[in-house]
Amino acid sequence: MSIDSYEALLKRSENVLSKSNLNQQRLQIPEPDVIQEGKLTIVRNFADITDMINRDPRHIAKFLMTEFGIGVTIDGRRLIINRKISPDQISKKIQKYMDSFVKCYECGSPDTEIQKVGRTYLLVCKACGAQHPIRVATEMQKEENTVEEGKIYTVEISKIGSSGEGRAFLRGVNIVVPGAKRRETVKVLIKKMRNNTAIAEIVEREQQS
Ligand SMILES: [Zn+2]
Repeated sequence: MSIDSYEALLKRSENVLSKSNLNQQRLQIPEPDVIQEGKLTIVRNFADITDMINRDPRHIAKFLMTEFGIGVTIDGRRLIINRKISPDQISKKIQKYMDSFVKCYECGSPDTEIQKVGRTYLLVCKACGAQHPIRVATEMQKEENTVEEGKIYTVEISKIGSSGEGRAFLRGVNIVVPGAKRRETVKVLIKKMRNNTAIAEIVEREQQS
């Protein structure tokens, strides 16, 4: 074998090696770096995690919001969750996200992308070519619309609005609760609902600990 063909062979193997390393690296999601501030949970390395997963951080944030049933906010590279959540719970949800939206259902490769075909979202694998409708997406859609007039929900007041009314966020809906205090957990009856905003009335206050 000539020096040239050794070189060519070496180059080819390097390419193959670096590709498989890349795949493995992309599966190693960093552990969430979590701190608690009062009743808030802050994931300090949220952007590192979403970069690694290679999906829109807003989509992952929305997924977590639906899963935890509580408001979340992207703050630069951090994610703020309006409740105490353990790093372990966050890891499990991210794993669940990976299983639904990232890892190929057939070969497990994270080298996939989401494509919209008609009204269906498909998880398309670049490694093996498999295409499957995404399993969790429809559930998320359904759950988002489950705040209904005349029903009772437990919410945590995350802030106070400009007119002194309590504000909560549940399943993608802004809930306005007159008379509620910040950080209070209350059971509310949905009186009126329009688009993404609902007016609610307190039916029960949780005992303050
Ligand atoms: Zn695959």
